[in-house]
Amino acid sequence: MEHYLDNSATTKVSKAAAEKALELMCENYGNASSLHSLGIKAEAELENARRKIAKVLGCESDEIYFTSGGTESNNTAIFGAVKALKRRGNKIVTTSVEHSSVLEAMNELENQGFEVIYLSPDENGIITAEKIKDAVDNKTILVSIMTANNETGSINDISKIQKIVANNNSPALIHTDAVQAFGKINIKAKKTGVDLITISAHKIHGPKGIGALYIKKGKRITPMHFGGEQEKKVRPGTEALPLIGAFGVAVSELEIEKNYEKVSAINSYAKIKLSEIKEVSFNSKDNALPYIMNISVKGIRSETMLHYLAQNEIYVSSGSACSKGKPSHVLKAMGIDKDTADSSIRISFSKFNTKEDIDILAKYIRQGLETLVKK
Ligand code: PLP
Repeated sequence: MEHYLDNSATTKVSKAAAEKALELMCENYGNASSLHSLGIKAEAELENARRKIAKVLGCESDEIYFTSGGTESNNTAIFGAVKALKRRGNKIVTTSVEHSSVLEAMNELENQGFEVIYLSPDENGIITAEKIKDAVDNKTILVSIMTANNETGSINDISKIQKIVANNNSPALIHTDAVQAFGKINIKAKKTGVDLITISAHKIHGPKGIGALYIKKGKRITPMHFGGEQEKKVRPGTEALPLIGAFGVAVSELEIEKNYEKVSAINSYAKIKLSEIKEVSFNSKDNALPYIMNISVKGIRSETMLHYLAQNEIYVSSGSACSKGKPSHVLKAMGIDKDTADSSIRISFSKFNTKEDIDILAKYIRQGLETLVKK
C-alpha cells in the first residue's frame, strides 16, 4: 500500500473535481466565448468557478484571473507589475527563499537592468518587518514575498508586510506567492491588502495546469500575452474550462479549519515518532505550516533516503520537488549547515494521511539508517 507524503509537490485530484473536468470535456464542452447555448452554459461554469475561488480568497469574482498555474501567475504578476510601473523606479524587493518561478523571473529582471534586493530570512525562515522597512523606498516598484515556504512551511505575515510597504512612501505593487498556503490557512485578499496573489489548483486536490492570479481592483499590470479578450486581456486564450471547473469544485470542497486541525494532529504525531530516532533533526520550525515538515536524517543523503523510502512505497521529497538534486537555497538561507541540508527530506501532508502513514515512515527511516549507513 502506498504512503503518499509529498502533498506539497502535488495532491491527488478529488473524484468530484475529476468528474467535473470530464463533464466539461465530453458533455458541456462549449467555448465560453461562443454566443450559442453551449457557449452560454460554458460561460456560466466559468463564472461559477471564479465565484467559488473568489469567495474563499475573500475578494470579488472579477479580481480573479485564470492562468495555467502558480508558475504562470508568478511570472504574470512580476513582469506585469514591473512593466506597468517601470517609470516610477528600478527597484524590486523579494526574498532569497522564493520558489524558482519567482527567483528565475527576478534573475531575468536583473539581466534587464533592474535592481533586485533579496532579503534573507531569520533562523525561523521568516522575513522580519525591519528588513522590509530598510529595503523598501520610493523607488521600489514591486515587493514579492511568499506566504508559506514550499520547503519548510515557514509563514510570513503578509498583512504586516503590506502595511510596512504602504507606510514607506513606495509606489510598489505587493505580490505574494500563496501557492502552498491557499486552502490550508485562511488568506483573505481584502484583509491582507496586497495587490497580487498567486494560487494553484494542484496543491489542493485540483488538477495540474490551472491556477489563478488575484489582481486587486484598480491596480493595473501590463499583460505579457496578446490575443483575444479572455480574462480581460490579462491572460488571453480560450479558457481551460475542464480544469477551471475542476479547480472550482476542489475549492468548494475545502474545509480549511477542519483539515488544519487534522493535519496538525498528524504533524504532532510525526514529530513525536520521528524525535525517537536520534539521527533525525527538524528543519521546519514550530510556527510553520503544519502541512510541511522538513527533516534531516544524519549521515544519509536526501536522494538516497528518498529512493529507499520510495522502494517501500513511501513518497517524500528531497528539499523542493522543483530543485531536483540541487542543494536547498532555502535551508542555506536559514543558516542550516551543508551536511544537514544535504540530508534533508520534505514530508508533506494532506487530509488523507493517517497515523499509520507516519508509523510506516518512521519504521522505514530506521530501517534505512541501518541498511544504508552500513553500505
Ligand atoms: N510557488 C510555490 C511556492 C510552489 O510550491 C509551486 C509549486 O511547487 C509553484 C509556485 C508553482 O506552481 P505550479 O506547479 O502550479 O506552476
